[in-house]
Amino acid sequence: MSKFVIQAEDLAAQKKFAEALYQNYHNEAQSRGYEFTFSIRTYGCQLNESDSEKLSGILKTMSFVQGNTDDPDLVIFNTCSVRENAQDRLFGNLGLVKAMKRKNPKLIVGVCGCMMKQEENVEKITKSYPFVDLIFGPQDIHRLPELLYRLHFTSKRVYDVSKNDYLADDLDLPIDRSRRFRALVPIMYGCNNFCTYCIVPYTRGRERSRPFEQIIKELNNLAAEGYKEILLLGQNVNSYGKDNAGMPDFADLLEAAAKIDGISRIRFMTSHPKDLSDRVIDIMAENPNIEKHLHLPMQSGSDNILKAMNRHYTREQYIRTARLFRERIPYGTISTDIIVGFPGETEADFADTLSLMREIRFDSAFTFQYSVRPGTPAAKMEDQIPQDVVTERFTRLLELQNGHCFDSNSGVVGNVEEILIEGRSETAPHILSGRTMSNRLVNFTLPDDIDLPDGTHLEKGELFDGDRLEGCLANVRITGARPFSLEGRWESFTHD
Ligand code: SAM
Ligand code: SF4
Repeated sequence: MSKFVIQAEDLAAQKKFAEALYQNYHNEAQSRGYEFTFSIRTYGCQLNESDSEKLSGILKTMSFVQGNTDDPDLVIFNTCSVRENAQDRLFGNLGLVKAMKRKNPKLIVGVCGCMMKQEENVEKITKSYPFVDLIFGPQDIHRLPELLYRLHFTSKRVYDVSKNDYLADDLDLPIDRSRRFRALVPIMYGCNNFCTYCIVPYTRGRERSRPFEQIIKELNNLAAEGYKEILLLGQNVNSYGKDNAGMPDFADLLEAAAKIDGISRIRFMTSHPKDLSDRVIDIMAENPNIEKHLHLPMQSGSDNILKAMNRHYTREQYIRTARLFRERIPYGTISTDIIVGFPGETEADFADTLSLMREIRFDSAFTFQYSVRPGTPAAKMEDQIPQDVVTERFTRLLELQNGHCFDSNSGVVGNVEEILIEGRSETAPHILSGRTMSNRLVNFTLPDDIDLPDGTHLEKGELFDGDRLEGCLANVRITGARPFSLEGRWESFTHD
């Protein structure tokens, strides 16, 4: 695979396809009396969510509007192949779409994302789900207009997954951001690390860092548009710039981002422990608008397993970095990723994982059972761990981590924290939810009678649309702790 920077001419050609389709769909919509709708189902990580925001932006340039999930004119599945269960979910949902297609034979079904970079998945769809009209890869998002054009004017299925590692100028792509206050900003694509369990380097290709000036320009634009929070994304943000000699590194980028006026919060993920520099931690400590949260996947606490995983750090090195963060930013939180049941993991290796968890006391953790990914070195390793052993270890690990999460949250009860409001709580519409500067989730209530920051007044007992407060900042007194969230009481709105 080679790296190709998408040229302006290529994007201009795509715009021509989009314009032709716009005319077409617009005219057809007028004659049938209602718009063409799309629905995108996104699996996996925030990079996939960011890709879906681009797909949505591109579709809107072709006159499509966001529709509901039950009867759209076009449905796209943006897939993830990191673990087997995400793959299974796709095939389950494709089975359901078959019935939708029977009801509406004109329904366009597209599948894209990481799974489409694995030939066996494309073969399975070709054989067992022939009603899928469109297949493309994660590097082909910018080519959606051309692919849809070919489908529309030939009426033949278009299965076209390119082999190149494209790097498109995101500034030239329409992005339909799903949040009003938070912008996802990929700073690099791909991964060079080849952790032995992981499929990502095979599906997302080699590391490609976006040009520094281009990212800064995007951040300035976002600040001017009123976005409050920026999420800098990459599989390993700390290797930003390493693919181009002389380029600024991640610490430079983070420092420059923190200087942009108007952005209240900057977060980044993911950091690889082997590449996170002390300077990044210093910059986090020194800049009030960089969130005090570090996502630092440990994967395992055993040096033997870390070596077999090809992680390139030891337990001691991990501890040193985590301690440095705790010392420099005592208010901060550390989250992690942990895999249980990697091939060859002995009870002693697992005990090392538990002891590292006790040592660091992670504020939160994403915990995974090892999932065999065909094509990765770990899939061929001997000593795959039986499922009953994995399940038993996983239960013990969850129990320990849940206790640490609860202790960590209990430590901030009584504090007044500044919360960036994300909207209404999903389960209780009268409760607002948001996050602290250290990325803790807080659910809180408003008093009965209150002036809202948009100048309106909330009367006692009045039902209100909490999503109106999305993106506002509020001081909230923390009144209670649960393992995965905090409870609080509003005290005041803050203005940045
Ligand atoms: N690039 C990031 C990193 O290295 O930390 C994470 C990318 S991956 C999408 C997110 C997490 O999924 C990994 O940190 C790992 O814990 C988990 N993961 C990846 N491959 C896995 C596998 N085969 N089985 C179980 N978990 C896996
Ligand atoms: Fe996968 Fe490792 Fe790359 Fe993360 S750093 S995406 S776990 S190969």
